[in-house]
Amino acid sequence: MYDYLIVGAGLYGSVFARVMTDAGKKVLVIDKRSHIGGNCYTEQIEGINVHKYGAHIFHTNDEEVWKFVNRYASFNRYTNSPVANYNGELYSLPFNMYTFNRMWGVVTPDEAKSKIDEQRKEAGIKEPSNLEEQAISLVGKDIYEKLIKGYTQKQWGRPCNELPASIIKRLPVRFTFDNNYFNALYQGIPIGGYTKLFEKLLEGIEVRLDTDYASLKGDSIASKVVYTGALDEYFDYKLGRLEYRTVRFETEVLDTDNFQGNAVVNYTDESTPYTRIIEHKFFEFGTQEKTVISREYSSEWKPGDEPFYPVNDDKNDALHEKYAALITAGDVLLGGRMADYKYYDMDVTVRKAIDAAKKELEGND
Ligand code: UDP
Repeated sequence: MYDYLIVGAGLYGSVFARVMTDAGKKVLVIDKRSHIGGNCYTEQIEGINVHKYGAHIFHTNDEEVWKFVNRYASFNRYTNSPVANYNGELYSLPFNMYTFNRMWGVVTPDEAKSKIDEQRKEAGIKEPSNLEEQAISLVGKDIYEKLIKGYTQKQWGRPCNELPASIIKRLPVRFTFDNNYFNALYQGIPIGGYTKLFEKLLEGIEVRLDTDYASLKGDSIASKVVYTGALDEYFDYKLGRLEYRTVRFETEVLDTDNFQGNAVVNYTDESTPYTRIIEHKFFEFGTQEKTVISREYSSEWKPGDEPFYPVNDDKNDALHEKYAALITAGDVLLGGRMADYKYYDMDVTVRKAIDAAKKELEGND
């Protein structure tokens, strides 16, 4: 008999399991996949840690979260500075003075601001109500057309005026020459890859891989269940399906030491079928003779695929709420990007798992 059965060995489940185990609780972690780490999982190819489910860059302003993860891994000094490739024109990301200079030839922050103001006025947007309007008000029409529209439509499979403005608010806009993608005090990648971090988090904890929750659902082996998978799946889709985006990766080993000179290059035009190419060695300043790249293709999730991104429009959010309301008994806790159906970053997930575990412990005392 366990105190907690934790369904999912991803970030939320692993952090929750660690905190509970350290507090003396008996936990069992299961995962239907054959590895730990959820979508953060990395695997070595040619001595390079390959982010098997896409780029994961840890960044946070939360000091406690940063200290917590640093107990289980050493983080390097990687700073995310993606490059956008629009039909061969290269632009700096996030949107900053280098981007504005390349786009319009402007040199000073004032010049950049007036260019954006001019384009915002032309578009006549007062209160942005969707991603397209939000993007144009933040950076103007030219940047929207070249660096946002195509990328976003490929990534989300929906027109920008049908997507929530919140998606684009993730990206900073800066009137400085700072190419750091994140506004975060702390940033880095676990040296040796994310899998090592998860091995440490789960040290001394019973983990059963290749184990579906359905195979244990009837057995009462734990006082409480922590479920981190998709919530519609948990209820056998009885109220209908939530929409997700999935990503397919085409990974290649290349006989060159440097393919694109950067870890992340976004392809922002509509005609390139992939959204970005990741060159994994650059997450860890690798000096290997070869290189490994992954092209990312985004598409609508269908049964059998891995869900990656929730589609947080009103329709899906309302359905998720209905599902969440079906959990009335206190013996099932939900958490993480999938069960909460929220576009969480890793640090938010860690924070939520720590807080939920602490709350449980307080309730139990
Ligand atoms: N985005 C864009 N152009 C880019 C990069 C991002 O339009 O070159 C938009 C796009 O809508 C994307 C969102 O910003 O979905 C959030 O990007 P982020 O890099 O945070 O996405 P993630 O790394 O989580 O996939």
